[in-house]
Amino acid sequence: MIIEQQGLFDEEEPQKQVENTTASIVSEMVQDIAFLPGVKIEEAYLDFHDVQMLKNKALGCKGCRLRETCKQVVFSTGNVNSKIIFVGEGPGSDEDEQGLPFVGRAGQLLNQILTAAEFKREEVYITNVVKCRPPGNRLPNPDEVKVCRNYLEAEIRIIQPQIIVCLGAMATQAVVDPRAKISQLRGKWLQRNGIKIMPTYHPAALLRNPNYKRPVWEDFKLIRDDYRALL
Ligand code: SF4
Repeated sequence: MIIEQQGLFDEEEPQKQVENTTASIVSEMVQDIAFLPGVKIEEAYLDFHDVQMLKNKALGCKGCRLRETCKQVVFSTGNVNSKIIFVGEGPGSDEDEQGLPFVGRAGQLLNQILTAAEFKREEVYITNVVKCRPPGNRLPNPDEVKVCRNYLEAEIRIIQPQIIVCLGAMATQAVVDPRAKISQLRGKWLQRNGIKIMPTYHPAALLRNPNYKRPVWEDFKLIRDDYRALL
C-alpha cells in the first residue's frame, strides 16, 4: 500500500510554505520547495550540481559542533546515478576512522541484507543524515540535524532517486516527518513528489534486537521488488 504524502510540512512556517507554493504556480519564477521537511531550499546548496563537488564542500564544513569532535567528515558511498538511496543516521567510530558510511558492524549487516536482497552495494547510494560522528555515538541533536540535512537535500536533488530507504527512526524523521514513529511506518511505502520512501529499522537496531530481523527482511523484499521493477 502506498500512502501519498500531500505536500511537505515545515515545522517552523507552514503558512509561508503554502504561500510560496501558490506563488510558484502563479509566477513560475519561484524555485521548487525542498523535498525534506523543514529545509529551506535556498540553504540547500543550489549551486551544486555534482555529488563530488558537494562532498568537497562538506569535507571543509564546520557548520555545527560535531566537526569539533569527529576525526573526519563522512559523506557518502556508492553509485551517484543510482535510482535508490539508503539514508542512515550518522557515522559511528569505524566510519569516523575510515571516512566511509556503514563500514562497522551495522554496515557489515547492511551488506548482508543488501546481498540477500540481490543488491550490489556498489549499485546503490548510501549516505547519512549527519556527516560527522556525534561524540560517544549519541543521537545527533536537532540543531545539528537542521544544519546538516541541507547536504541530504542537495544529494536527493542531484541524484534524483526513485526510492529512498530510511534506515531507522532518525532518518525517517528527517525524511518523512519529525513526528514520525518508525514502529508505525516501517514496511509501508510512502510517496512524495514521485519518490517512493520506505522506512525500516536501522541495522544497528537488529544487532540489539534480533526480533527486528524478520520485519526488516520483509521490508527489503518489498524494496527489492519495486527497485527491480524500475530497471
Ligand atoms: S555534521 Fe554536517 S553540518 Fe555539522 S560540521 Fe559535519 S558536515 Fe557540517
